[in-house]
Amino acid sequence: MTADRPRAPGYEDAVRARIAAARLWAAHRAPYLASAVFALNTVILEPALDEDTGAPVADPGFRAFPADTRWNLYVEPGTALATPVEEAGWWMLHQVGHLVRGHAARSPVRPEPGHEVSTARLPAAGAVRDEEAHRWNQAADAEINDDLEAEELRGPVGVVSPAELGLPAHRTAEEYVPMLDVLASAMGRGGRALAEAIDCGSGVDGQERTYEDGGPGEGLTRLDRELLERSIAAGIQDRISARGELPSGWRRWAEERLRPSVNWRARLGAVIRRGLSTVAGQVDFSYRRPSRRAGAYAGIVPPSMVRAVPDTVLVIDTSGSVTKDVLSRLLAEVTGIIDGVAGPGRRLRAFCCDVHPHPVQVVRRASDIELVGGGGTDMRAGIATAMALRPRPDLVVVLTDGETPWPEQRPPAQVVVCLIGDGGHAPGWASVARIPQGMPAKGET
Ligand SMILES: [Zn+2]
Repeated sequence: MTADRPRAPGYEDAVRARIAAARLWAAHRAPYLASAVFALNTVILEPALDEDTGAPVADPGFRAFPADTRWNLYVEPGTALATPVEEAGWWMLHQVGHLVRGHAARSPVRPEPGHEVSTARLPAAGAVRDEEAHRWNQAADAEINDDLEAEELRGPVGVVSPAELGLPAHRTAEEYVPMLDVLASAMGRGGRALAEAIDCGSGVDGQERTYEDGGPGEGLTRLDRELLERSIAAGIQDRISARGELPSGWRRWAEERLRPSVNWRARLGAVIRRGLSTVAGQVDFSYRRPSRRAGAYAGIVPPSMVRAVPDTVLVIDTSGSVTKDVLSRLLAEVTGIIDGVAGPGRRLRAFCCDVHPHPVQVVRRASDIELVGGGGTDMRAGIATAMALRPRPDLVVVLTDGETPWPEQRPPAQVVVCLIGDGGHAPGWASVARIPQGMPAKGET
């Protein structure tokens, strides 16, 4: 913002008019997402201006109208003025898809606190981005573009299209990642690119960009987002009951959003299994060495010695707001899942935590764990205690209602948080499964 910078009078009004028209177009084309489209908070960035004419110039790095998780939509003036209304409206629906499906929270490249801000404002977005971040963006795009295509909302040239790439429909971003890897290496050999390197912003991967001001002030709060998502999900359900046609991805999302109990058991199993297998991969890799006993087997390595079993510790919040009955049933579920992966009957370490951690119990079954404690919770102490155990655990599973402070830094172990009830929160560095307060017994939902 220097004094001698050329001025482009009136560009801001023209940009606002373009965005307003795009919003109306988007709300009209996908009425069940109208409230979401109107909730997007547009942030108009400083334009890059042409040195001779003083008019805003489009920065191709902003083609996607990137968003962040606070529902800010970043509008680069040159790009907005160069993009037709329908295309800008399509990008709004696309970004709503990223935000509502929680792509940033699901992102494998989500950074640790205190990370470096990425340098996304570069002409070729994606050129400097890490390969994994770029692939995740494409996979997340595949997940949502699929549903847009089902509504006859075809994206602009160069965006990822599962149909055009010959990929199966209705998959999740997590499922598309390995498919795109295979496809990219096959296409790479033929010298063709999979799709344009489009950067959808921190709303897709949780990595803050330089053009975000980083302040929590702008955009939607966590509560705003929660209420908004529920109302969108309710709107989708209404439309379904009125026999309206709706893309299957949105239908599935609304179902899960409104009735989390349907899927919490599957989600719990998925996050714990993923935690265990990530750890097992690391352990297996770093500790692989010839067995000292191998000689005795004449070159045959016993398979049981190859498989590393991750060491898991359970941290149980006994602050009093969660009933012991719910904790016991959840413990049985969690240990059942761990047994299923790592084999039954192994010794397991567990400890209860309220404002202070209680002594570690070593048990074989969930029912052997004695639940002690009450009062407030401080999971900072709980996580610190888990990390101080020797041997240090590879995986920490925390059972809590989330009404607790958490450590700011990611601890040096995988952490899975079983978050009981609707309130509370888990830190960004943990994998989370939300468990309904009532915790229906097995067989019910
Ligand atoms: Zn995208």
